[in-house]
Amino acid sequence: VLELVDIGANLTAPAFAADCDQVVARSLAAGVTRLVVTGSSVEESRKAKALAAAKPRVLWSTAGVHPHHARACDDATIPALREMARDGPVVAIGECGLDFYRDLSPRPVQERWLEAQLELAAELRLPAFLHERDAFPRILPILQRWRPRLPRAVVHCFTGDGHALRAYLDLDLHVGITGWICDERRGTGLRELVPLVPRDRLMLETDAPYLIPRTLQPRPRHHRNEPMYLPAVLDAVADARGEAREDVARATTATARAFFGI
Ligand SMILES: [Zn+2]
Repeated sequence: VLELVDIGANLTAPAFAADCDQVVARSLAAGVTRLVVTGSSVEESRKAKALAAAKPRVLWSTAGVHPHHARACDDATIPALREMARDGPVVAIGECGLDFYRDLSPRPVQERWLEAQLELAAELRLPAFLHERDAFPRILPILQRWRPRLPRAVVHCFTGDGHALRAYLDLDLHVGITGWICDERRGTGLRELVPLVPRDRLMLETDAPYLIPRTLQPRPRHHRNEPMYLPAVLDAVADARGEAREDVARATTATARAFFGI
């Protein structure tokens, strides 16, 4: 029997508004028994916390602002996140980071609010939940500066190259792997790199409703990813590492539970 942790589920997304309870029930039935709901703005983080508070010991949440939304940050942002993160189901600060792929906020603004959230994570002694897309050269020096003050940090949905992976591992960061690894074209590089991640730094996530694993059989008619599909990510990771899926399941669950304290 599986007991997986989905460390990144966007359950506050509009795609789940109508049937979130059933989505969680299906996840539990599939052996995905703990979920960390990603907060991507002050408002979404509030919703994520409320969802998590309603399902204790199954759901937890993060509090943070995604780089896409960095331009909406103001003087009230950090105090609001601090207040939210004081108690209960909030187990990490983020997602925060840099996204130079879409550039939905100006880059200097993204960097400013990433650093503000790293400072908050350091202050609260909470792990940081990091998002980096096409921004490795810029995020590296920032993380090098902040890493000594952070208890733990995970680069979620890692999609970078070997150079980036080695630099993140050198910084003692954890790595989150999504269904990106199941993509027969885009996932090739990731399948070669995932064996390099030590077991005690490797965690699994769906990033649902995004990134539905393309290896699902039969292929669903819809495109909405759900936490119940996390075993497909497990299978691809175990396959790439040449390890038994039970071993990878046990190791990633132990790692995630220790990382988030859940
Ligand atoms: Zn992300």
